[in-house]
Amino acid sequence: MRTRRTVARPARHAALLLCVLALLAAGCGRAGSPPVRGPQPKEEPRYVVDRDFRLPGSPTWERAKKRGHLVIGSKEDQPGLGEMDPATGEYSGFDVEIAKMLAASLGFDPERDVTFKAIASANRETALQNGQIDYYVGTYTINDGRKKLVGFAGPYYIAGQKLLVRADEKRLKGPGSMAGRKICSAVGSTPLQRIQADYPKAVSVAYDSYAICVDNLLNKQVDAVTTDDTILLGYASKLPDELKVVGKAFSEEPYGIGVPRSDRKLAEALDTALTARERNGDWKKAYDATLALSGEPAPKPPRVDPSLTR
Ligand code: GLU
Repeated sequence: MRTRRTVARPARHAALLLCVLALLAAGCGRAGSPPVRGPQPKEEPRYVVDRDFRLPGSPTWERAKKRGHLVIGSKEDQPGLGEMDPATGEYSGFDVEIAKMLAASLGFDPERDVTFKAIASANRETALQNGQIDYYVGTYTINDGRKKLVGFAGPYYIAGQKLLVRADEKRLKGPGSMAGRKICSAVGSTPLQRIQADYPKAVSVAYDSYAICVDNLLNKQVDAVTTDDTILLGYASKLPDELKVVGKAFSEEPYGIGVPRSDRKLAEALDTALTARERNGDWKKAYDATLALSGEPAPKPPRVDPSLTR
């Protein structure tokens, strides 16, 4: 069954406008609250579709071509990265843009021939193994354990683990002050593994998603949320009066595009496409329209590196 979640352009623009207005109102309305930092997107990026693209020998690509559209896994509750608007079903964010520009390079129109599917951290490997999705773009760290189960292309960004706390928090300033405090992260994620393995004095709490952790932080059920800085900045920029990101990054999280492990042709094609989209400025356009709004200007994209992914 086709579950494409895209809406007509005027509706998308209206939604974007409402969102920007809401952000501006939130930033300017309350005394003392900082304005939303970073540039506002001038326009949604558009990606040139390579209509002549063919990838014989990639079972994933051939299946998608037959089906007529790509099914891409991402997150639905990570502002700035992968977020689904419940009113429109529309997905937005940096990961979504990366997914779309790569779809365009593989010959699929990102506005018509792409279906997004929300897959939580713990379910990514299974989703790729059982063919539920063609590829995955959603804050997915490349590491050796995962490489035994799935393939990767990239990296397309390097994040780092940090802590998100309530704005009035004074004592929790970084990983050194977590002893006895409740630290929340997502099941199946590298930040949760790191807390449990390297910081045994912290009281680790796990939920299916970071959005649930953030609710628990606001309700004072936990003392911090830990995961990649990109994700935490997205939540903090939505509620700047209530939340803040603290400390220096205490890990390196190179983000890869997850593919079925046996489909090396697809991983190589995605590497080539990513390199081309970095060179022609599309990567930067995507960053400026999404993650830059959480407050961090665009870094140089990392070099695509098969020695890391394969
Ligand atoms: N990048 C980390 C990971 O892949 C944390 C973010 C996530 O759970 O998606 O586990």
